[in-house]
Amino acid sequence: MSRVYVGKNIESKIKAALDGCAFTVTDDNVARIYPEFTRGAYVIEHGEKNKNKDVLFDIIGAMSDAGLTRGDRIAAVGGGVVGDMAGLAAALYVRGIDWVCVPTTLLAMADSCIGGKTAVDFRGVKNLAGAFHSPREIYISARFVDTLADREFLCGFGEMIKTSMLDPHAYELMRKSADGLLAHDFECVYALLNRCVEIKKRIVKTDPKEKGLRKILNVGHTVGHALESVDGFRLSHGEYVLKGMIAEFSMCKYHMPPSLYGEAIETLRRFTVPPRTSGRAVCETAVRDKKNTDGKISLMVPVEIGRIEEVRLFPDEFISRYDDALKELKEI
Ligand code: ADP
Ligand code: ZN
Repeated sequence: MSRVYVGKNIESKIKAALDGCAFTVTDDNVARIYPEFTRGAYVIEHGEKNKNKDVLFDIIGAMSDAGLTRGDRIAAVGGGVVGDMAGLAAALYVRGIDWVCVPTTLLAMADSCIGGKTAVDFRGVKNLAGAFHSPREIYISARFVDTLADREFLCGFGEMIKTSMLDPHAYELMRKSADGLLAHDFECVYALLNRCVEIKKRIVKTDPKEKGLRKILNVGHTVGHALESVDGFRLSHGEYVLKGMIAEFSMCKYHMPPSLYGEAIETLRRFTVPPRTSGRAVCETAVRDKKNTDGKISLMVPVEIGRIEEVRLFPDEFISRYDDALKELKEI
């Protein structure tokens, strides 16, 4: 398990941790905005398109050129792309060395930095080649959000709202602070981020290799992932998760208490609008989701806050429920 530090003023702690690393990976944006954390770093180009095997092996090559040995550790300073790639490079280099993660996007802080998942995309499939390799230490400095684009906030909110569904305290906090979150109020974002980190740590500790419980983290993700792929990744992952939650909750509203359903849709509508993609197109991709079994498409639904149940639908049922849900959402 990783040791996780979360704070508003942990810059000196981060610098000390980076001093203990023989090699740092970052991207061009982060290097430009935060030279004080990335001096001498190996800089990759930003963006998901660079999360591939060629850039991965460039990193590993540079680690070799720098003479790293098994006792050395490396650092990732950046968003999910940097974390995924530096983590996988650390997993592969001389069969595995330690690494330290400094997430700089809200999405990476709230979600992807915890749980040890590392990967690159391959043959058009997201995260096809990867490994579980948890960082030794994770430093979550909320100050990095100061420079994030609006879109990146939304991306983080998608995962944070999802995580809120798993815990009554977080859910209340999220609903109460929706105004503040939308205004990017630092204290609101920080309070919810802290809570989400705790929840994710707890879940990952119980199910480190995603064999069971971790499935509950997939709320909104069956439709979300399908929309992302049909849409050609035009929006950010978190934005698709928000749309995925609206659609999935509406498809499964009879599994949810009416008050929770109404409240959740109302809150989600503040952050996004329902998707427009047709049920058939979403289904064609959703049938390939790795959570599915026996030809049924799996949806993870909060039957109450903190209690997630799996709803499994045959493709035909999935399409009709999805199309009906979209029609109804249009009318509300
Ligand atoms: P994510 O963390 O959302 O999975 P990325 O690693 O692709 O995704 O980061 C999203 C974008 O945000 C990238 O262009 C990256 O360079 C940029 N970025 C990362 N951290 C910051 C930051 N603290 N301030 C501004 N831009 C950042
Ligand atoms: Zn996600």
